[in-house]
Amino acid sequence: MSVATPSSVPTSLQSFLASPKQLLINGVWQNAKSGKSFDVYDPATDQVVAQVAQGEAADVNLAVQAARQAFDNGPWSKMTASQRGRLIWKIGDLIEQNADELAQLETLDNGKPLGVAKVADVALAADMFRYMAGWATKIEGNTIPLNVPYAPGGEFQAFTLKEPVGVVGQIIPWNFPLLMAAWKLGPALATGCTIVLKPAEQTPLSAIRLGELVQEAGVPDGVVNIVTGFGETAGAAIASHDDVDKVAFTGSTEVGKLIIQAATGNLKKVTLELGGKSPNVVFDDANIDEAVAGAADAIFFNQGQVCSAGSRLFVQKGIYDEVVAGVSEIAANMKVGSGFDESTQMGPLVSREQFDRVTAFLKAGVAEGAEASAGGAAIDRPGYFVQPTVLKNASSDMSVVREEIFGPVVAAMPFGDESDLVSQANNSSYGLAAGIWTRDISKAHRFAKQVKAGTVWINCYSIFDAALPFGGYKQSGWGREMGHAALENYLQTKSVCISL
Ligand code: NAD
Repeated sequence: MSVATPSSVPTSLQSFLASPKQLLINGVWQNAKSGKSFDVYDPATDQVVAQVAQGEAADVNLAVQAARQAFDNGPWSKMTASQRGRLIWKIGDLIEQNADELAQLETLDNGKPLGVAKVADVALAADMFRYMAGWATKIEGNTIPLNVPYAPGGEFQAFTLKEPVGVVGQIIPWNFPLLMAAWKLGPALATGCTIVLKPAEQTPLSAIRLGELVQEAGVPDGVVNIVTGFGETAGAAIASHDDVDKVAFTGSTEVGKLIIQAATGNLKKVTLELGGKSPNVVFDDANIDEAVAGAADAIFFNQGQVCSAGSRLFVQKGIYDEVVAGVSEIAANMKVGSGFDESTQMGPLVSREQFDRVTAFLKAGVAEGAEASAGGAAIDRPGYFVQPTVLKNASSDMSVVREEIFGPVVAAMPFGDESDLVSQANNSSYGLAAGIWTRDISKAHRFAKQVKAGTVWINCYSIFDAALPFGGYKQSGWGREMGHAALENYLQTKSVCISL
């Protein structure tokens, strides 16, 4: 499995890419049982940069067996929480030490600007492991006073134990490949679970490198297994596997529903981080310059491929034209290009499929009556580039307002007053995030209370921290990632009661 390295690939990555890209099962890098592999593309050039082992059900079976063995009998199961915490911390250190290479891999695989990959994806991933390393020693149960009516005079001592849920399957998307792996692995390792991780088929490279770093940190064999492959085969095999105790999925709402169905066989626990169509609201008392810059960043960051992107922009009537013109001007002047070019502000979309999806939405938006005040089309060059786009005259019945585009396309709509706004903002099947720009603190708090969203940003957008829980209301998901809330996803509570 090797592929000629195109000239677009930095020389620093060439030796990593030249080695076979295999599955990590029980501490051993190996080919898929079938011997199959799949191509990985550079989205800026549409050229193949690597071939990666194509894991399927047979490989998932081996990985689950390894994870089960490591959970039940391996050295991992006998480690103290402190020892576990130290290993997790070390992964964070190794990510930081290899930050340049990891950032380059993200840019090559996903297309995002290199500077963004470094300060966002890689830095947040390192921080996630360190944050979760600290939690390993702080997972505690409670002592609970009892009052049992049918045992008068009985004296009991009762307490709870917090135990790892077991073998967990983790299926992640392509928009923040390394960071999504960190969000998943961090809490699972902190709680003492063992893992079968499936990266997205579009972006498996940084997860493979992370697997090497996990080994270098000294995490015992079989604790972290990585099966690269496609969703319908490898992903579905994880979700339906009878010996997987819990599945954690990040991806589309459509596939999230398939995961729930697949999980019913053994009623494994399920957490889901799904899509969004988040409202970003600008009131006429806001600092307009900051709101305009914030609204542009809310949608164009990561080429708009952010589940919490501010893709529905609500602007109070009196300032609608000014704000739309401001965001459009930023869009029109954005430097779009290869993520390796230092001046690039927006890279290509991740894949041909995503490019087709976003350009189809652009056509549908205009056909339904929206008007592009900036962008509105693909960019005619190799790679999967589209223009940053602002659609005005949008309305709630249009597909570009209802559906998640997952691209750099914002639909701008005017609103009258606060009472009119909340119902519009909540008029979505999703509920992942929301933003509000205002100088009126009471108004901001009222909105934060009334909006149905898992995260609300006030006078800022896309602020993420390992300590801050993230997840969705409505069809944006089940459960929370990050913060100590994420630990609960990976724990069982056992009640123990002793008669004194
Ligand atoms: P996707 O649902 O197609 O794929 C996500 C992952 O699921 C991939 O690893 C894929 O291989 C796997 N998969 C696909 N079909 C499967 C199946 N039948 N069984 C098991 N696994 C399967 O989503 P995508 O297009 O890769 O990612 C974009 C979506 O992810 C967007 O909707 C976005 O909002 C969402 N997302 C959500 C969050 C969040 O935290 N809420 C974060 C990032 C992305």
